[in-house]
Amino acid sequence: MGSTITLHDLAKTYPNGQRAVRQVSLTVQDGEFLVLLGPSGCGKSTLLRMIAGLETISGGELRLNGEIANHLQPSERDIAMIFQSFALYPNMTTAQNIGFPLAVQKQDHDQVSARVQSVARMLGIDHLLDQTPGRLSGGERQRVAMGRAVVRRPSVFLMDEPLSSLDTRLRTRLRTEMLAVTRSTGATTIYVTHDQAEAMALGDRVAVMRDGILQQVDTPRALYALPANAFVASFVGTPRINLLHGTVFAPVDGVMALNFGAQKLTLSYPLTHDHQMLRVVQGQPLLIGLRPEAIRIADKAHATAFERAMTGVVEHTEFQGHEALLHLSLGGQRADVPAPLSDHAPYNPARRNAADLLRELRRRTGLFDRRLTPAGPTQPPVQPPARQGIGELVIRDEPGALNRRGQHIPLLIDVRNLLIFDERGERISPDPTRVPDL
Ligand code: ADP
Repeated sequence: MGSTITLHDLAKTYPNGQRAVRQVSLTVQDGEFLVLLGPSGCGKSTLLRMIAGLETISGGELRLNGEIANHLQPSERDIAMIFQSFALYPNMTTAQNIGFPLAVQKQDHDQVSARVQSVARMLGIDHLLDQTPGRLSGGERQRVAMGRAVVRRPSVFLMDEPLSSLDTRLRTRLRTEMLAVTRSTGATTIYVTHDQAEAMALGDRVAVMRDGILQQVDTPRALYALPANAFVASFVGTPRINLLHGTVFAPVDGVMALNFGAQKLTLSYPLTHDHQMLRVVQGQPLLIGLRPEAIRIADKAHATAFERAMTGVVEHTEFQGHEALLHLSLGGQRADVPAPLSDHAPYNPARRNAADLLRELRRRTGLFDRRLTPAGPTQPPVQPPARQGIGELVIRDEPGALNRRGQHIPLLIDVRNLLIFDERGERISPDPTRVPDL
């Protein structure tokens, strides 16, 4: 049995004025495995510790199974917490360490022993029950710590980077085991990590935080395909999404394109509804996001109806074993993730940016004007870019491919996979009001 955990405008300001968590609202369903993801210092641990009752709540409401829990003692919350530094009692055996929470509750000795046996078997450490922690490996010690948390059958597990002190291979194995164990108990789990690969591998849903602010909560697939903003798009996925400065180029009777500086990327014809609307943000500074898999090297296979040509100049090849990463220059400009919204200049309604304009247009979408459809499918000539120094585009290539620095590579870009953000980093295409069906 799990618990439903509901946060409503939960906030934490430390006595020194540090606003570690700002108005986080979120519901974690009974039995769900939710991952809190974000860079170091973004407030993940603070949020987790407020749920555990280890940190006071400055504002907002925490509910466990619908009941307000802001002021409950940790022991009244039916929560087990697992940390990175798993403190085991050094003089106790594995069996005593696992059974400790039950022994404290003065449970019957035989029952405790049976429960410890069963938990140890589940975690594959039943042959280590008589060992003390000093004789166990890091992975075994973490399993004992896990056993101690599981043995109580809590309705909630809160895990704060529980695997970060282990080496990569062990982490990958243990995280799968951890997921299986928590699933088998039916408990609700919140798992904190700064490692996006771990978050994507584990989470039913992933909640991404930045500077104490919740950015997006979604399934791993939806986060990847439809990130709410440029920060989430850049944080999730390896290699990182390519972010380029660009503008919409929409001649009255010509083909709509994205202008990257030295080159334009024509949008496919007929235009998607989403791309048609981009006409209203013509000329506005935008960030264009291209995941490496949206781009392929043009070979003998014909371009699909959605692929459009550009040319990249090889700057650098990174050999990775199973693939190579090709760094290319397009003659454009690489973009950084914009600063958090709160750090921007005050909002000026006289200067509406792309997201505002599109919101307005979508609101009036019933009045949608057919004339926005462009004239025809012709492609403008592809201009090879001037040499830039470092490439602003990273794509995947065959590991054995031999590409010389300076070589021109014909590319095909699938325009259905473009992610377009306004200058503040807010996603404007695909339509952010679209509910992900992922
Ligand atoms: P994360 O878990 O994402 O690394 P934390 O929740 O630990 O982030 O910290 C969020 C912010 O709050 C950081 O800026 C951190 O320095 C600050 N912080 C954490 N604990 C305290 C504290 N006890 N007093 C003051 N500031 C704190």
